[in-house]
Amino acid sequence: MTPGHGAAPAAAFAVPAALAERTVLPGDPRYPLLRSTYTTVARPAAVVLVRGPGDIAAALAAARAQGLPVSVRSGGHGLSGRSSNDGGVVVDLSGLDEVRVLDRATRLVRIGAGARWGRVASALAAHRLAVSSGDHGNVAAGGLATAGGIGWLARTYGLTVDRVRAVELVLADGTALRADAAHHPDLFWAVRGAGAGVGIVTAFEIEAMELGDIGVAQLVFEADPAGGALAQWASAMAAAPRTLTSAAHILSNGPALALSVTVAAADDDPDRVREALGPLLSGRYRPLQAAAQLAAYTALVSSAHEHANTGRQPVVSTNSLLPALTRDAARAVMATAGDRHRPAFVQLRSLGGAINDVPAGATAYAHRTAQVMAQGNLFPPHGHDDLHRLWAPVREHGTGSYVNFESGTGPGVFDRAYPGATGARVRELWRRHDPDGVLRPLTVG
Ligand SMILES: Cc1cc2nc3c(=O)[nH]c(=O)nc-3n(C[C@H](O)[C@H](O)[C@H](O)COP(=O)(O)OP(=O)(O)OC[C@H]3O[C@@H](n4cnc5c(N)ncnc54)[C@H](O)[C@@H]3O)c2cc1C
Repeated sequence: MTPGHGAAPAAAFAVPAALAERTVLPGDPRYPLLRSTYTTVARPAAVVLVRGPGDIAAALAAARAQGLPVSVRSGGHGLSGRSSNDGGVVVDLSGLDEVRVLDRATRLVRIGAGARWGRVASALAAHRLAVSSGDHGNVAAGGLATAGGIGWLARTYGLTVDRVRAVELVLADGTALRADAAHHPDLFWAVRGAGAGVGIVTAFEIEAMELGDIGVAQLVFEADPAGGALAQWASAMAAAPRTLTSAAHILSNGPALALSVTVAAADDDPDRVREALGPLLSGRYRPLQAAAQLAAYTALVSSAHEHANTGRQPVVSTNSLLPALTRDAARAVMATAGDRHRPAFVQLRSLGGAINDVPAGATAYAHRTAQVMAQGNLFPPHGHDDLHRLWAPVREHGTGSYVNFESGTGPGVFDRAYPGATGARVRELWRRHDPDGVLRPLTVG
């Protein structure tokens, strides 16, 4: 049952003896902080705090035997809210949070699915290593590293999935296995972009990068409705050295709009950072404010972001991956942020660089020509229908969307996230490995 509609649990969960110590039921003092997700208040019949593949298999078997829906949760930041449910079983992997350097020479690290990226960043910083993940330290590995991972170092490092070298996972039928390029290559392909539909990953082996301090710049521009400042940011980033990755937000600034830009430079040489930033500062649209400093990567992906997820941020979100943010596309994006009745909260990410080195068919994340991701968000009382009407002019400029910045789960989302041949292969693998759709994250058309 979809969570968030205020329904009481539809059924109780008869806890198998093997899970007695691990299961949190309504009435348990831990339940209020475990029942919900970042976006959605939920009322599951049980939350199982699994400790390994055996617990996962037992939880899946018990839920199946009792006819209860299953949610899989690592960090609870999924935008759709489907990592909890009303009346079903939540397989909670937050306890599988190991972060370990397996081989410093090859920079291979092992990261449990429940590890929060802020903790991953600080554990790896002690070894001068980093994994580019996302911008939030409370997001966990499980949901992000099975779908994409557009992080602060993405143009240098690629997506998180691009550096996954092996996974351990449990299939919907309870089988535990390890997948890498040589073993279960189909699963290994799917898990890097469409992993939520093939199994429950318990741990990742990921190739980290060497990283000391990074350059961090904060710039603020006046955001003109014609999209000039936005298009300038995008074209400067498309031409920037791949040490630079940037995120931008369109914010209201009194009656006007402002473009707030953060740039991360995977470089600890202040002169090189200054030089790389130059074109972002010197175009026709000049920043109203500009500041830059060297900082630890953990200042951006921080364990200080950690919090319990209690459904406090209801939101509907969609996004478009754009081969270029042309002036027309930028104007369309600005129009959503400036809409008089339901202004979208818009964030953008620069892509390209190492992300686009990977062939489109090499992983289940197919979007290897995009230079920009634009994401639109609306807050209650507005819903998906409002957002889709508002966002339609932006979508015309895009080639698809990033599954993890979509809050909807309908067939349109599948088709945008997994276009063409990628979609056909994902569909077949999801059906083969989870024929009953127990884990299926999206409706497949
Ligand atoms: C505040 C915020 C900031 C974000 N920033 C970024 C960002 O910078 N870059 C980016 O790429 N994304 C970002 N995201 C999106 C993020 O990648 C997704 O929300 C992701 O699903 C969160 O992972 P989680 O484990 O915390 O989520 P959960 O809610 O626990 O899981 C979401 C879904 O992922 C699947 N899943 C979870 N764990 C597993 C597992 N172990 N195995 C298989 N499937 C699993 C399940 O289908 C589950 O319903 C952000 C989200 C939020 C809310």
